[in-house]
Amino acid sequence: MQRATGWPGVARLLDRCLALAAAHELPGTLMLVGEPGLGGEALALELAAGLACHGGPPGGCTCDACERVRRGIHPDVELIGPPPGKSDITIDQARELVGRLDQHPYEGKRRVFVLTSCHTPPLTNDAASALLKALEEPPPVVTFLLLAANPERVLPTILSRSVQVRVPAATPAQLRELVAAACQTDLAQTEALLTACHGEPSSVLTAAETLIANEVPVTTLADGAAELDRLLPAALAGDGPALLAVAGLVERTPEGVTLALASLLRLAASAETPEAERLLAAAAALLAAERRRAALRLDVSTAVVGALTPFATRTV
Ligand SMILES: [Zn+2]
Repeated sequence: MQRATGWPGVARLLDRCLALAAAHELPGTLMLVGEPGLGGEALALELAAGLACHGGPPGGCTCDACERVRRGIHPDVELIGPPPGKSDITIDQARELVGRLDQHPYEGKRRVFVLTSCHTPPLTNDAASALLKALEEPPPVVTFLLLAANPERVLPTILSRSVQVRVPAATPAQLRELVAAACQTDLAQTEALLTACHGEPSSVLTAAETLIANEVPVTTLADGAAELDRLLPAALAGDGPALLAVAGLVERTPEGVTLALASLLRLAASAETPEAERLLAAAAALLAAERRRAALRLDVSTAVVGALTPFATRTV
């Protein structure tokens, strides 16, 4: 989603950071605060590219080094996140990282480590403790870029060791433009996608990336959302086949769980109090089941059926 660095606010911030780096005044540990998918990652990558660059024009340089940073294959720029199949950044990862911090850069003058989320979780207390000294005073050739959506979810010890920079939020028009460019959708399809991921702009972009990666027709997401809106009330009224259809749909649709949660919240918003409470409880159960499922690597449809069955009461 590198188009975000074309937004004037994000582009200005990038220029300012690169100017500080050129003057050797860029803080060693920088926390980029902003909603996931909406500029923070793109800014971190472009900043890392600027730091690894062999001297092209700042911002948007297309030299070999910058392009390799953007493709995630530059040896001096590393993205640190939970390992495959795990949901946390572990203490072993943190120790391994600290153990090789004094290595020289392979190609450029600087090494950049991007923590894809410095929230706790995924950054465990132990992993954070192992990183504290490094974050407080990184070696002169190391820059840490920490991504955070919400500083309240970051440990105070991490907050106090980093300089926070707020990534300017996207305007609704910029968001529509970003989604339209990512999904190659027209205005109506873009609006449908945004509605499908009600109130969660970052999940639109995650969903869009999944769609593009799997070459799923873009209408599937909006269709999936409409179908869930239709099936969920029946499923929760005790219609077994509808519940199985919901589970299958959630499994097949990219970001299916997010869509189902959004659908339950929409239904709750328009329901009377006792029914709204039941729908919110169902949404909470689905969210909890999804977290367990992700941690235990269970299959999606079983988790959905398990979570929603207690709420699927036949009305007499
Ligand atoms: Zn370059």
